[in-house]
Amino acid sequence: MGLIKGEVDNLLVMGKSGAGKQPRIDVLVAEFGLEQLSTGNIFREYLGQFNAIGYEGDMGVFYDEGAGEFLPDEQLVEKLGDLITGKDKDAVLLGLKAKYFIESGKFVPDSITNALFESFFAKSGFKGMVLDGYPRTRDQSQFLVDLVASKGTKLDAIVLVDNEDEAIVARTIGRRICPNCQKVFHMEFKPPKDGKLCTECGTAVILRSDDSEEKIRSRLQEFQDKAVPALAFLKEKGVPVVKVPGNLPVFTDEAVRASVMDALEQL
Ligand code: AMP
Repeated sequence: MGLIKGEVDNLLVMGKSGAGKQPRIDVLVAEFGLEQLSTGNIFREYLGQFNAIGYEGDMGVFYDEGAGEFLPDEQLVEKLGDLITGKDKDAVLLGLKAKYFIESGKFVPDSITNALFESFFAKSGFKGMVLDGYPRTRDQSQFLVDLVASKGTKLDAIVLVDNEDEAIVARTIGRRICPNCQKVFHMEFKPPKDGKLCTECGTAVILRSDDSEEKIRSRLQEFQDKAVPALAFLKEKGVPVVKVPGNLPVFTDEAVRASVMDALEQL
């Protein structure tokens, strides 16, 4: 049986950060004619806009630890002073907030993530997407289920990319990303051109700012605490789940394609 191209509204790819989601997403995009919607990429884009203003001080000054929230936006703008003058304030402040969480290996709070996700999902009419890295909490799952129900679209299946924590730590340390087009490389398994350049656009690849071992382990803990319940909630709501291995004995495009499509055949 499997899924029928043209009848699929949305697919979800879930798995620990660094489990190997991207190659499976590439397969789904190509096979079902969908587009990727990645909250991680969106956050990194805003983070880049914040980095571009050149703030080099401590990020802690923007957050009220006691209250567990950021200072009001006017105070954030005041603290950034001339650096933010003439810039897109909303984008820079969103970037600031994303950076604070991402670089400490924590998930961005649901209120920020859900609003941002909805505004991007709306651009596609709430369908035609491979959702990558969203939802990652039970609240996000609930928000998504309600959203598609209210828009008359559906979630057809979840591809769960399965990988062991230790394999992920080893893989993620070798991961590099193109800061221009977001293409992902691995120094050993999928090396950039001449060991340093993006094969798509020629930009020098970089280590993601959140790819240190300490931050990877923090993200794995966040996955256990929050994303596992997010997946359980979707299962309870009847969204079918297929598991695909994050590590394959032979890592060719065809082997990845076959492992994803064979798993979907089970549906
Ligand atoms: P990723 O590229 O998917 O690993 O995402 C990078 C970082 O962005 C994560 O470690 C989180 O800090 C943040 N992030 C991305 N998607 C979400 C989400 N759905 N909920 C909360 N935080 C997220």
